[in-house]
Amino acid sequence: MENRINVTRSSMPSWEEYVEKIKILWDNRWLSNRGVIHKEFEEKLKERMKVDYLSLFANGHVALEVAIDAMQFPKGSEVITTPYTHCSTTHSIVRNGLIPVFCDVNDVDYTIDVSLIEKNINEKTVAIVATHVYGVLCDVESIQKIADKHGLKVIYDAAHAFGVTKDGVDAANFGDIAMFSCHATKVFHTIEGGITVFRDPSVHEKLESLINFGFNGPEHVQYVSTNARMNEYEAAMGVCNLRHFDEEVAKRKIAADRYDERLSGIKGIHMIAPQKGVTRNYAYYSVFFDGYKYNRNEIQEKLSKQNIFARKYFYPIIPELECYQSMFQGIEMPVAKHASDTVLALPMYADLTVEDVDRICDIILK
Ligand SMILES: *Cc1c(COP(=O)(O)O)cnc(C)c1O
Repeated sequence: MENRINVTRSSMPSWEEYVEKIKILWDNRWLSNRGVIHKEFEEKLKERMKVDYLSLFANGHVALEVAIDAMQFPKGSEVITTPYTHCSTTHSIVRNGLIPVFCDVNDVDYTIDVSLIEKNINEKTVAIVATHVYGVLCDVESIQKIADKHGLKVIYDAAHAFGVTKDGVDAANFGDIAMFSCHATKVFHTIEGGITVFRDPSVHEKLESLINFGFNGPEHVQYVSTNARMNEYEAAMGVCNLRHFDEEVAKRKIAADRYDERLSGIKGIHMIAPQKGVTRNYAYYSVFFDGYKYNRNEIQEKLSKQNIFARKYFYPIIPELECYQSMFQGIEMPVAKHASDTVLALPMYADLTVEDVDRICDIILK
């Protein structure tokens, strides 16, 4: 459809650049299972994130699920987590036989409210699983302090936070595990893909085995696991996209700055303020319509009539999803609920022009 603007649009290297990268596959016929491009991609990522170990996965969800599996928490343990996230975060807890205990988010940046964590900790608690919402970082220092005090692991769903740094430190370095999604809709992508970074290097070997059915030698299967491998075509997309990542973020910034200019200071419209010392990747441009002359649903409707497709990201909150309703009946998460009822992620991608942003803002402000 012409003139259609979606909430996101995948960044791509040029056709020539990608083909150049995958040419080798027609010679070596090594298409998956830690091929040369996979290894190159790992090295480039380690350099960028300044970490010693990381693992590549078929997608972000399986990366998180397998990473939690690698921690070997006793079944039935409790995990403190956020209701304001992608269902993937919660699924990765539940599918590991662990119990999510929701802690509401704060009303400043909608990441987990650190002042509510401690009262949810008991002898069954093993970890905190929090999400860096829209690339805005959780209060990583406070969370680490609480975790250290109670002997808990910290796991970040950093699916939105690729490339974000705090005081010069890459988001990959916070927590015991950080998971990045490299899905086609994310700010950095490998078509489908995921990355985990582990603090404990001894877990790395196990993780590499878990990615590949639990094999640890051609005739040895040590763990009951799954297939979570990234293939060479995906790694090649990653190598190419990584070369252009900073440029792409700079282009997103131009669009985001224009949104800021048009929408800041309007009564009933607010955005999450930038955080001190934290760089932005402009993964999403989420706007909260709270007391504006039109509500969130009306804005979404007005935009879609003009072929512009914004998304309610995240809506509904996790305890209200069909699959979790019965498990979490009566749970009150007022801040997350309110955010979820008022939020709209406006189109945001590197090729979004200032004219596009103006068209979108004109419709919102009319
Ligand atoms: C996209 C996303 C995931 C899942 O990643 P996939 O690569 O799509 O499997 C998990 N958590 C959050 C917050 C996400 O946005």
